[in-house]
Amino acid sequence: MVVPDRLLMGPGPSNAYPAVLAAQTLPLLGHMHPPMFKIMDDIQEGLRYLFQTDSKNTLLVSGSGHAGMEAVISNLLEAGDKIVVGNNGIWGSRVCDLADRYNAEVVDLHVEGGRGYTLDELTNAVETHKPAVLFLVQGESSTGVHQNLAGVGAMCKKNGVLLAVDTVCSLGGVPFFADAWGVDAMYSGSQKVLGAPPGASPLFFGERAMKKLADRKTKVASYYFDLNLVGDYWGWFGKRFYHHTGTISTWYAMREALAVVTGQGLESMWLQHRACHEQLWAGLSELGLEPYVPNPDERLVTVNTIKVPEGVDPVALVNHAMTKYNLEIAGGLGPSAGKVWRVGILGANAKPANITLVLEAFKSGLKEQGKL
Ligand SMILES: *Cc1c(COP(=O)(O)O)cnc(C)c1O
Repeated sequence: MVVPDRLLMGPGPSNAYPAVLAAQTLPLLGHMHPPMFKIMDDIQEGLRYLFQTDSKNTLLVSGSGHAGMEAVISNLLEAGDKIVVGNNGIWGSRVCDLADRYNAEVVDLHVEGGRGYTLDELTNAVETHKPAVLFLVQGESSTGVHQNLAGVGAMCKKNGVLLAVDTVCSLGGVPFFADAWGVDAMYSGSQKVLGAPPGASPLFFGERAMKKLADRKTKVASYYFDLNLVGDYWGWFGKRFYHHTGTISTWYAMREALAVVTGQGLESMWLQHRACHEQLWAGLSELGLEPYVPNPDERLVTVNTIKVPEGVDPVALVNHAMTKYNLEIAGGLGPSAGKVWRVGILGANAKPANITLVLEAFKSGLKEQGKL
């Protein structure tokens, strides 16, 4: 098998840390062997630090980010429950679709891409609709918007609403405090900031989300994602039962990726990602390129959206970067399709030299089109 070695500076997957890839080549263990349970315990401990929570209810859902999304929605909602969905990009749209498939009553808080929600807007929506769950995306990777979560959890708690958050492309790259911010349920991804291969979705349920799960009148409609059963496998309820065969090699990789997180420390990771983001935007503005997100406070550090100027062919520039530099830059997605390029600053790739190469590719790509 021949696989080209590319620098992946799109919104994910990112290049994995070499030690993380190496961990995947370790011998397989049985999924119910005590040494495997020890690795799972270590992962849960690492996740508590990464999420900044004391909750014992952390685990990896076997699957990519969408698996975590489906686990959160299918466990938190019963048929007829109401969910208010912050929908300012493709991920909110997908959660609307998903919640609808589980027969929830969906209130789609749709706004144009390129901005987040104010606390006033969210308070208004919660007070008007009185949902069971409010869903928000912290890092909207289709539009490059960072949703401010401060105050949202307290407002939800006051109204008896659960707060569920998607952090797939943001967790580890920007501050997140599950307990201090009152987040009740959250899912993330392995192949973005965490620098591991796809296939493991970090998830957490807080106390109030666990109560909602315990109080359900109906079974979770998905067997594979039923957290009563998956949680049993991860030791949430004391004993361990076989539910499915864990994605063992991917969990080795996650065990190693979490060792990188705890070794480096979250504050240092946040600073590293922000420094690269600033380097990127200093260089882009020298090339005359502008951010898609108008409000500087809402610009996501980990996935950056760059407006395509009039008369420039975005696909030609993406192809130029790949052909000449072996470098992945992405186009838009959902509401930003055709309007932006997306540059990821994710985990192992968040290095000054990589940003310099991205800037070089933009410069050369614009020159090739006679735009510089
Ligand atoms: C990438 C991404 C997802 C989807 O994750 P997959 O691993 O592709 O299933 C969901 N939400 C956000 C914000 C993402 O960036």
